[in-house]
Amino acid sequence: MSFVSHLECSRTGARIPHDAFHTISDAGAPLLVRYDLEAVKAAIPREQLAGRRPDMWRYLELLPLAKPEDIVSLGEQITPLVPLLRMQAELGGGEILVKDEGRLPTGSFKSRGLAVAVSMAKAFGVKHIAMPTAGNAGAALAAYCARAGIKSTVFCPDDAPETTIREIAYHGARTFRVNGLINHCGQIVAAGTKEMGWLDLSTLKEPYRIEGKKTMGMELAEQLGWALPDVIFYPTGGGTGLIGMWKAFEELEAIGWLDGKRPRMVAVQSTRCGPLVKAFDAGHEEVRDPWEDADTLIHGVRVPKPFGDRLCLKVMRESGGFGTMVDDEKVIAARASLAREEGLHLSIEGAACFVAYRQELQSGRVGRNDQAVLFNCASGLKTDLPPSQTRINRNEPLDFSAFS
Ligand SMILES: *Cc1c(COP(=O)(O)O)cnc(C)c1O
Repeated sequence: MSFVSHLECSRTGARIPHDAFHTISDAGAPLLVRYDLEAVKAAIPREQLAGRRPDMWRYLELLPLAKPEDIVSLGEQITPLVPLLRMQAELGGGEILVKDEGRLPTGSFKSRGLAVAVSMAKAFGVKHIAMPTAGNAGAALAAYCARAGIKSTVFCPDDAPETTIREIAYHGARTFRVNGLINHCGQIVAAGTKEMGWLDLSTLKEPYRIEGKKTMGMELAEQLGWALPDVIFYPTGGGTGLIGMWKAFEELEAIGWLDGKRPRMVAVQSTRCGPLVKAFDAGHEEVRDPWEDADTLIHGVRVPKPFGDRLCLKVMRESGGFGTMVDDEKVIAARASLAREEGLHLSIEGAACFVAYRQELQSGRVGRNDQAVLFNCASGLKTDLPPSQTRINRNEPLDFSAFS
């Protein structure tokens, strides 16, 4: 049996039973999974985790699955914290740790959310799932649905990264390119839900992906000896990670597992799509108007008006954090220099976090002694690479001095 007590409307606080796969609340807001935290606290001391398998399912008491047999898994290992030693020395700040989520199944942290959501869908007997996606979420959906024996249908904006669109189709999802943006794809999924009876797994339009994303926060806490960093930089699109990690910290605090304070949460966006940063700086509680001409190359943050805007802004405020926009050109340059100087190939979104950290260390919003964790959300190999074109003719005399 799970420790889930009910689902809660994030807007009104209304309680909804967790007896079926609910999507959004009657008020049209995201639903959150609530647990009987007193019972969790009494059931397992944190020392008990030590003997468990090193994967995200070790936090089972704080996940919504009713029994371990419901887990649909592709091997979600604990992701490492890799220090950026050269960059730390160069910038003169505190410790910089990259949480490298690119090592997860399907090469991105979307696997955490989808592993839990698809597991729950399977447990509830769902047969067909649909989703609008810019890429990585669709790839994870397609893979976990293949694993679970559930049919999946995915709609992508025509200009989503080519590798990922192909990856989605390769995993057997019915895959469609749409001549429009992610919100247009979302409208197709919503319309089809009525007609096809499929489950709409759009970001934050169901409560379980957040629960999977929550494990990033739990893992981070455990890896750092139950003491969290001073600041977390997170490339924020729909915001499930920001919301999920904050929820993790709240729950861990409630069951007495956290030593010390919670971190400041920084939402990283682009100067070419930064709706949450703009709303935060204006003191608004929601994104009032969708960001126009969102043409950033940082695909993961290209969400003109996130459905979970209020929850994201709340996390930024409550944590004493903020939002910051980065310049796409600087991010492209930083990604290349990190690959060369640190040996770490980040996704463009991961590199965006580094640029944001550097910018905010300079601005003084991050302190010189602060320990910072940057999220690398996906493998660098998901993003296009510049060509390498230097050729040699082995039948001609070679000038080895040119090879040094
Ligand atoms: C989905 C995604 C993001 C944004 O994550 P959210 O938690 O939805 O804000 C960032 N980077 C990459 C690579 C992604 O796939």
